[in-house]
Formats: sequence, structure tokens, C-alpha cells
Amino acid sequence: MPAVKLSQISGKLFIGGQFVEGRGGRIDVINPARGEMIGQIAATTAEEVDAAVESARAAFRVWSRVPAKVRANALHALGELIAADVLNMAQIMTSEQGKPLNEAKGEILKLAEACHFYGEEAVRVFGEIVPNDQNGYQSQVVREPIGVVGAITPWNYPAELVGWKLCASLAAGCSIIIKPAELTPFTALAIAEKVSEAGIPAGVVNVLTGKGSIVGQALVEHSGVDKIAFTGSSAVGLHIQRSCPSVKRLSLELGGNCPMIVTKSADIDAAVKGATRRSFRNMGQICIAINRIYVARPIYETFLDGFAKAADALTIGDGLDNPAADLGSMASRDPLAKTRDHLDDALVKGARLVAGGNAPQGPEFEKGFFFRPTIVADCTQDMKVMSEETFGPLVGVAPFDSLEEAASRANDTPYGLASYVYARDLEEIYQLSAELDYGNVAINNVDAGIMNAPYGGRKQSGIGYEHGREGLLEYFNFKHVRLFHGVGA
Ligand code: NAP
Ligand code: MG
Repeated sequence: MPAVKLSQISGKLFIGGQFVEGRGGRIDVINPARGEMIGQIAATTAEEVDAAVESARAAFRVWSRVPAKVRANALHALGELIAADVLNMAQIMTSEQGKPLNEAKGEILKLAEACHFYGEEAVRVFGEIVPNDQNGYQSQVVREPIGVVGAITPWNYPAELVGWKLCASLAAGCSIIIKPAELTPFTALAIAEKVSEAGIPAGVVNVLTGKGSIVGQALVEHSGVDKIAFTGSSAVGLHIQRSCPSVKRLSLELGGNCPMIVTKSADIDAAVKGATRRSFRNMGQICIAINRIYVARPIYETFLDGFAKAADALTIGDGLDNPAADLGSMASRDPLAKTRDHLDDALVKGARLVAGGNAPQGPEFEKGFFFRPTIVADCTQDMKVMSEETFGPLVGVAPFDSLEEAASRANDTPYGLASYVYARDLEEIYQLSAELDYGNVAINNVDAGIMNAPYGGRKQSGIGYEHGREGLLEYFNFKHVRLFHGVGA
């Protein structure tokens, strides 16, 4: 099994089962920890978009008719090939994204796991027989794959966010055209290499690189694309919804501004551990990152003490040189600038800095987008760190006096992706899990997204689901077949 090499996929598009030299201009891809160019991608041209759509449409006619068992086997083969090349694929991801190598390896292995999960689900897509009010009729509800999927993904989880859409498409019998983020395109091209090794027919999977506003937008507007599966910011998600020129299926996994509530009955050490992991992992560049924390006043200072020490203890490094570092560099200049802006805004409005607040010092940090995990306390709801998605290693903390107050401040946002609670009192747990207006509520843990439960946001955090049965059903149309057979009529 050949390992994927950056030099082989640089400047390439994956269309109709082949890596082809892109005919458009070139865009540099940078290692954000080092400020060095690692390769270039092709800006896909309008003709190349058409060619990919044409090839995906032709492949859909074949793939949608293949027995589910064959599609399942292909997914299992893909999962095995990806797991077998984990180190190499992780190195590609770390070079373009900045996360520590061990984190990247974990993400590649989760992608492999997703292939196996969807492989298992592929053979369990059942229809339904629905009761009729007259004898002699049978109503069947049949599930049919939607068609050609356009998948548009962000840069924070370059393998998993491509993978969920890819695996669900393959399981359902759809074909797919992937437009990965401009910052992290090589992970997607490396996945395409595995698709081709797994023997998945030409055209079922295509990867087009380039700017979202041009190549992503072309997929949104293309009459040959039946569904857009998008993960990214709420602003771009809304723009996509508005700019579809015709009716199209959409799933939108968008931004968050996720709260955590720590009640007076909480295990404080466990809450500190959870807060540290979910505020700073991947440098806070996670849609389900904890953005703001509300702590019961009697335990407020104790929690803050522990949290500040835990944040200061996190190690930061170049993700290739320090595979086991807790944190790497941020993915680009923009999220770092936003983090600094939210921090300045909080400090100007009276917040107290209890950890971090600047970039780590030393020659190894000079060329990259590094920042220390940062905590600000005594925050008010008008601060950006409390009211907007930061998407960086910064978290705001505030005390609360009643559970009602905590829930209402947690819900006081246009977003509804994930929320977190630490409490041991059953009544507090039930009250909060009922009141939190979020698609995911994690209680006494911070990992809401498991593969076999639905994952999706409410309000401005999106429509539709990924993961679980519900995630797979997003790739099907339902057809009602009402048959008169006359028996018993
Ligand atoms: P983004 O700016 O919205 O970009 C996401 C993708 O959309 C990229 O591939 C981008 O391409 C493309 N794009 C940009 N403009 C487009 C257009 N007009 N038409 C079609 N596609 C277009 O988001 P991001 O900055 O990469 O990612 C961070 C955001 O993603 C955060 O808000 C985060 O919360 C959200 N997110 C949500 C989830 C979830 O599951 N809910 C998971 C992860 C991240 P370019 O890269 O070329 O610009
Ligand atoms: Mg962007």
C-alpha cells in the first residue's frame, strides 16, 4: 500500500476517479506553525466544476443501484486503508492545520471508524409499510439516495468533517463532490487517494480545490448538484441558503457559542478537567468549544483557581516536532486576530485576566500563529467573549446566583449547538437538560458528539444532522409507493 505524498497531490484535482492537473491558477498552502509554504492547490475553473458534476451524475446512476452490501464492503475497505496510512495522513494534516501530530492521528483514526460505522449502517436502511384505511392497498415508504452531493467543509477538522459527509454519501448510494477549506485541502486529497485504492468506482467521489466564494458557490448554484452538505460559519451557511437559485436539499452545520454551567453540587475537579479540555482543545477552534462558563457563586473562586492552573499547565508546540503537545498553532491569522480582539474587548469592559493573555515566548513560536490558553473572569453578557463565537483559545467566566439565571444566560444567544453542565444534584441536572435550547447537552462530560447519536444545531447553528441514523437519513429521499393489489378488498 503506497503512502500518500504531498508532492503527488499538490496542484491536483480528483475528478472521475483520476488525479488531474488543475488548469486554473495556484493558491499557496501554508504550515501555520512555521509560516512555510508546503504546497499549492489549483483554483478549480468553471469547466472543471462542470466536468466533476457530469462525472458524479454518471457515477450516481451506477452507485445508487449497487447492492448495499457492496457499498458496505467498500466503506470497510476504505476504513482499513485510511487506518493503515494513519501516520502519513496525520503528517499531512498537521502540516496544513497546525494541530499536534497525535491529535491529527486521532482524527484520522476517527475517520476510519466513521467508514466502518457507515459501512454497518449501509445494510440497515429499511423502508416501512404504512397502514391503509381500505383493504387491498399497501403503502410502502421506500428510501432512495438523493443524488449528487456537494460537500463544503471548514479547516478545523479537515478529515472528520469531510468524512461524515463522504461516508454517509457512500452508504446511501449518493455520489459526492468535496470542496475542502482553502487552508486544509491536502487532507481531503489524501482521502481521495484512499478512495481510489478502495476500488470505489470512478466519479463517485470527486475533490475540487479553490476558493469557497468561487468553487463552493459554483456547487451551490449548479443545477446538477442535488444537495449541499455544509459545515462552516453561520454567515456563510445563511449566504448559501439565500443564494441557492433553485430548491435544493441542505444540511447546514454552523457556528456555536457554547455555554457551560457549573452548579454548586458539581464535582469541581471534574468540571475543571472538562472545561480545560473543551475550551482549549484544537486551540478552541471547534464549533462545540466552550466559549463561556457560568459558575455558582459559592464555588466560583475555587473553580477559577483550578481552571487557571490547568490552563497554564497545557503544553504548546509545533505539532510536527512535538507530537504529544496539548496544543499546536492556530490554523491561520484570522482566528488568532479574532481571539485577540475578543480578549481586548473583555479587558476594556472590566474582565479580570486569570490565565494566558499573550503568545508563548521563544524562537520556536515566532513564525507561527500561537497563543496561550486564556481565561477571563467576572465577564458580563455584553462582552464579545460571552455573546459571539470566539473560535480560539479564550474563554469567559461569570458567577451566577440561581439556576434560572444560569439557564437563561446560557440560552441568551442566536446559537444552539452544544451546551455543557457539571452537577451532581438530580433535580438540577433534569431542570437544566430540559431548559437548555441546544441540539446537544453534555452532562458531567464534554464529548457530546458520538458516532451513533444525532449531532446537529438549533437556531443559527444549523439545520439537519450528522452521525447516527438521523445523519444517514439526510442523504435519502422518501418515496411513498401506494399499491393496489386487491387482496381482501
Ligand atoms: P467558513 O468561512 O464558513 O468556510 C467554510 C467553507 O465554506 C470553506 O470551505 C469555505 O471555503 C467555504 N465557503 C466560503 N464562502 C463560500 C460561498 N460563498 N459559497 C460556498 N462555500 C463557501 O467557515 P470556516 O471559517 O472555515 O470555519 C469555521 C466555522 O465553522 C465556525 O463558525 C465553526 O463554528 C463552524 N463549524 C461548525 C461545525 C458544526 O458541526 N456545526 C463544525 C466545525 C466548524 P474557503 O476555505 O475557500 O473560504
Ligand atoms: Mg472562512
